[in-house]
Amino acid sequence: MKTDGETIHVAGAGPAGLAAAITLARAGRRVVVHEARPTVGARFRRDFQGIENWSGREDALESLRALGIETRFDYLPGTRGWAYDAWGVRYPIRTRRPLFYLIERGPGPGTLDSALLAQARALGIEVQFNTRMAPAAPVGIDATGPRLAQAVAVGYHFETELPDGFHVICDDGLAPKGYAYLLVWNGRGTLKTCLFEDFGRANLYVARTVEAFERLVGLRMRNPRRHGGIGQFGLPPVNRAGGRLLAGERAGFQDFLWGFGIRYAILSGVLAARSLLDGIDYVKESHAAFMGPMRAALVNRQLYAVLGNRGYRWALRRVASSRNLCESLRRRYRPSALTWLMWPWARWRAGCGLGPAAGESGASRRGTG
Ligand SMILES: Cc1cc2nc3c(=O)[nH]c(=O)nc-3n(C[C@H](O)[C@H](O)[C@H](O)COP(=O)(O)OP(=O)(O)OC[C@H]3O[C@@H](n4cnc5c(N)ncnc54)[C@H](O)[C@@H]3O)c2cc1C
Repeated sequence: MKTDGETIHVAGAGPAGLAAAITLARAGRRVVVHEARPTVGARFRRDFQGIENWSGREDALESLRALGIETRFDYLPGTRGWAYDAWGVRYPIRTRRPLFYLIERGPGPGTLDSALLAQARALGIEVQFNTRMAPAAPVGIDATGPRLAQAVAVGYHFETELPDGFHVICDDGLAPKGYAYLLVWNGRGTLKTCLFEDFGRANLYVARTVEAFERLVGLRMRNPRRHGGIGQFGLPPVNRAGGRLLAGERAGFQDFLWGFGIRYAILSGVLAARSLLDGIDYVKESHAAFMGPMRAALVNRQLYAVLGNRGYRWALRRVASSRNLCESLRRRYRPSALTWLMWPWARWRAGCGLGPAAGESGASRRGTG
């Protein structure tokens, strides 16, 4: 699809929508972004998140800059953390290359969202807040985020005396088929249980997660504020609907294994914009970029889900003794003969979680994040 001259409308001012808008504006196009909420990053409200740095050989921040996305946000390289198994055994994680860059989401100073907004505005992009785009609106790129809850992350934001670092617990009793995490940066913390099933008992898992971090690391939360959200995964991602190109989680582009969707969102936004500019086939390009890693990650997600606590313990021992953790994680996203062999099983096991994005079918497990 190639368009010339007219204004391009983008729905959603998340990483996917703003990356798309920035790419279009850098090529000289007039862009209007429509955001349903009053600010950028409103659904995250000071959440700490990580821009993962394991899936590519190139550094994640370098990759963003190579896409034309400035990295003028605050970040803390994630090089020092601890993992715990269901028996409370602690495995130190030390890496030379940062495993991820810890960033803040939301409208405040130094956040990823504010940096993207600042870059967009400097390029002359008009961002209209409090405008919810109707399904029939003439939108070029729809980047309105997840509609279905296929993973749920829920917990608290708070202040804490703990030192900077990250902590992860792999225990089905706290986070069924997922993981619980604690991120601390400059006296503030985010604690979440990330569930891949049994969402109905999320409150129980949050309570167990708080208790576990109190016991394991001496966490004391001050001024805790509840926070949660959903993640949507789709395979094959649905890239088009009603004449729009879908980007980010709206299309189902997500990291099946751990839910690190920011890089998928930004890259898919850039690819969608390039397809409007240059007439490249978005479906083909985005499938070439994402299908291999998403399939490999889905197979590994299903393998992980059948491991259970003893299996997680085995995996954590390997992680702790790995000489190059980024490289060993990267392998989990690289399609191999095993991917193709196990693909029918993984797809069958994932079942309804792999339906089309909401709007293309009747949405089950509709989220509120
Ligand atoms: C609790 C939690 C923790 C996470 N942690 C990480 C992490 O550590 N690392 C990582 O990489 N990923 C993480 N993710 C996933 C990551 O946040 C998402 O993958 C990413 O934000 C998706 O970007 P997006 O632009 O597709 O969607 P969003 O960020 O959801 O942006 C979509 C925007 O569209 C707006 N919108 C919605 N409907 C409309 C409409 N009709 N009209 C106009 N605007 C609309 C929304 O208000 C929103 O601002 C986490 C997710 C959650 C929920």
